[in-house]
Amino acid sequence: MNWIDTHAHLYSDNFDSDRPAMVDRAIRQGVGTMLLPNIDEDSIGAMLALEAAFPEHCLPMMGIHPVYVKENVEEQLAIVRKWLEARKFWGVGEIGLDFYWDQTFREQQFRAFRSQISMALEFDLPIAIHSREATRACIDVVK
Ligand SMILES: [Zn+2]
Repeated sequence: MNWIDTHAHLYSDNFDSDRPAMVDRAIRQGVGTMLLPNIDEDSIGAMLALEAAFPEHCLPMMGIHPVYVKENVEEQLAIVRKWLEARKFWGVGEIGLDFYWDQTFREQQFRAFRSQISMALEFDLPIAIHSREATRACIDVVK
């Protein structure tokens, strides 16, 4: 049995004290594949470092998490595109809409979600969606 964890932020600094042991434990329990959703431009380095440590098991995705979409959304999207053009990722994520934490950048969230879905289609990749207090809007955008 090869279990797949489709969404694990294992590169987070919350796990700095025992990350390799934790990943080893997961692999030994049959979780052979762990998909890593990106958060923003600052998390890419740690995510790719974890991939380098476990290249057969930890597979990075590229995207901007909706809570981290800010006024500079166009710059953020340019970074996502640059990375998608530069190397292989296993999906575009995590992307979506979050109206629970903060709606300050609501319009930018829509812009980022639509744009990153377009990139997923262009690069023929699946998407990993984050949706909170935004189910109807997320479904409408994906449609
Ligand atoms: Zn997540």
